[in-house]
Amino acid sequence: MSDSSLPPGLHLDTLAVREAVAKSQYGENSEALYLTSSFVQPDAATAARRFAGEEDGYIYSRFSNPTVASFEQRLAALEGTEAAIGTASGMAAILLLCMGLLKAGDHIICSQSVFGSTIKLIGGEFAKFGVQSSFVSQTDVAAWRAAVQPNTKLLFAETPTNPLTEVCDIAALAHVAHDAGALLAVDNCFCSPSLQQPVKLGADLVIHSGTKYLDGQGRVVAGAICGPKQLIEEKFVPVMRSAGMSLSAFNAWVVLKGLETLAIRMEAQSRRALDIATWLETHPKVARVYYPGLASHPQHALAMVQQSGQGGAVLSFDVVGDDPQVSRRNAFHVIDSTRVCSITANLGDTKTTITHPASTSHGRLTEAQRQAAGIQQGLVRVAVGLEAVTDLKTDLARGLDTL
Ligand SMILES: *Cc1c(COP(=O)(O)O)cnc(C)c1O
Repeated sequence: MSDSSLPPGLHLDTLAVREAVAKSQYGENSEALYLTSSFVQPDAATAARRFAGEEDGYIYSRFSNPTVASFEQRLAALEGTEAAIGTASGMAAILLLCMGLLKAGDHIICSQSVFGSTIKLIGGEFAKFGVQSSFVSQTDVAAWRAAVQPNTKLLFAETPTNPLTEVCDIAALAHVAHDAGALLAVDNCFCSPSLQQPVKLGADLVIHSGTKYLDGQGRVVAGAICGPKQLIEEKFVPVMRSAGMSLSAFNAWVVLKGLETLAIRMEAQSRRALDIATWLETHPKVARVYYPGLASHPQHALAMVQQSGQGGAVLSFDVVGDDPQVSRRNAFHVIDSTRVCSITANLGDTKTTITHPASTSHGRLTEAQRQAAGIQQGLVRVAVGLEAVTDLKTDLARGLDTL
């Protein structure tokens, strides 16, 4: 798949557009979309060799597909990893990760602030198959180290987290993992490789929900694992072949086209998010703003080093309110007063989205669990898109100014 006409040492911006363009015999300039479930074999002997893995060649789109391979190779180039494997969704990537690396009796340490479905998958579903798990504070490296057991095989983090944007020290967690003889996987959904490349900081594997910034336009569900070629070929490809959490060629094609504009979107959306976060911090009806790009963020310095000096495009804020009921009503008022933002839990879209975490993404937690996670009833999350920042401020001010 690698485009052998490209010279070595190209900048990421160039790779995002040019790396691994799938081409048919017609030489189209855009990536070819191979919508086919299976591939015709020239003869029975070739089919036999391909099925046995003795010869390269496409067989069936559950195993591999040229458009999916194009996406995998381009994403790997952007993450700085040897290889990648596309999956049906971000959760399918985490499922494949755990199925590939863990067996009954193994132990995984996971940040307690990762995506809700990740906690349910690791702490709930995999517990049914005898995989043990410990959940620790995202930012407390000593807690990660203390949770290590002789059977620890994997550490799993996500940075920054949703919705409070806690940033963990990837290099420090890589040391903990490697001292324990375990691997570190980082969910890089919020930053994307254009802001943060976890493998460069010592992580072994990178998880993506392609649904978010990689597509960037809210069109499809997709995912991937990026990492060393040997690990992907030995641990993940066989599981994918048997278990079938494969990425569809169409979705791979959509995300491939999304990757072309990833860097300019991330830069533009981060700039808008910083502008809005800075303004929110001065608003009298806002009690606190959570955004790694602000000097007031507890891990601001670390975030600026890890994230190429950018805060990303997701921010949260607590509206004022003397008790949980009042602050919840105030948060609902701010959300319901918007006329530009979309009230939806997705993020990573060019359309700004606004949500109330305590009653949506974190609605199934008890009030005590929510308090422990720091998710107040007055919390509002905004995933900033590409609209004009003045229009977004007016949209948020409409509710805030009338509290
Ligand atoms: C959305 C999300 C996922 C899950 O991705 P899907 O594509 O929705 O399955 C995983 N991790 C993070 C951080 C996410 O935001």
